[in-house]
Formats: sequence, C-alpha cells, structure tokens
Amino acid sequence: MDTSHGLFKRCSCLDDVGRPLNSSCSRLQERGHGSWYFRVELPLGRNGRRRQLRRGGFSSRDAAKQACDYLRDPTVGDPSRALVSTAQWLQLWLDTRLGPRESTMQTYRHHVRNYLIPYLGGRSCGSSPTLGCRRCSPR
Ligand SMILES: [Zn+2]
Repeated sequence: MDTSHGLFKRCSCLDDVGRPLNSSCSRLQERGHGSWYFRVELPLGRNGRRRQLRRGGFSSRDAAKQACDYLRDPTVGDPSRALVSTAQWLQLWLDTRLGPRESTMQTYRHHVRNYLIPYLGGRSCGSSPTLGCRRCSPR
C-alpha cells in the first residue's frame, strides 16, 4: 500500500462479523477491487483540534494523487486530468472551509447539495461551467 502521499486503497468488504475491512482486505491487490483515496492534513480547526480530509472513489492511484496535488496547490495541477468531478470538488471546498459562520455554512451546504451538485456534480471539474450554470440558473 502506497501511503507516501496519503494515498491508499480500500474497499467495502466486511469481515465475518460485519465490520468493514477497509484497507486490510486481502483482495485489494486485485485489479478493479476497491478504489483509491487520499488523505491530507488540514489546518487546525477553530477549536485547535487536528483535522484530516479524506476523499476517495478514484479509479487509479494516479487520479487520486492528481486530485490530492490539486487540492494542495490548485495553481499547479490540471483538475480535468485527475477526473475530479464538480461534486467532489464542491465537497472538498465545503470540507476545507474554516469560515464563515456556521449558519452561513449551512446555507452553503444547502445550495451545494440541492442545486449545484444535482446540476453540475457529474461534470469534470476542468470542464467549462457555462452550460451547466445555464441549466441551473433561474430564467
Ligand atoms: Zn475487499
């Protein structure tokens, strides 16, 4: 398992008593079994507690690494090559906010969940947003 960049593979298999095997599944070496994830350390939260962001569902190690690299420095990467969907990017954006106030964040989450992801979520993050925005904009 390559964890040098916070990259790892996991699946949804369960053990004999129904607990998730996660990264300890013996079948993870099989092609097409499970998916790739990345984990990054975030700035400490307002309460001083450690925060990590984990995202997955990537079909390859390279795709997960590119998404992770893009998250760490958006000026370097090309998000379209990482196959980051707009839904994944919006969730990352929400998860990495330290502000504004919680009531405003609830409104942001509502808009992302109910308007942006249904209309734009399946699009590649690097694709032109114009068409999708026209679809979800009020007329
Ligand atoms: Zn498995």
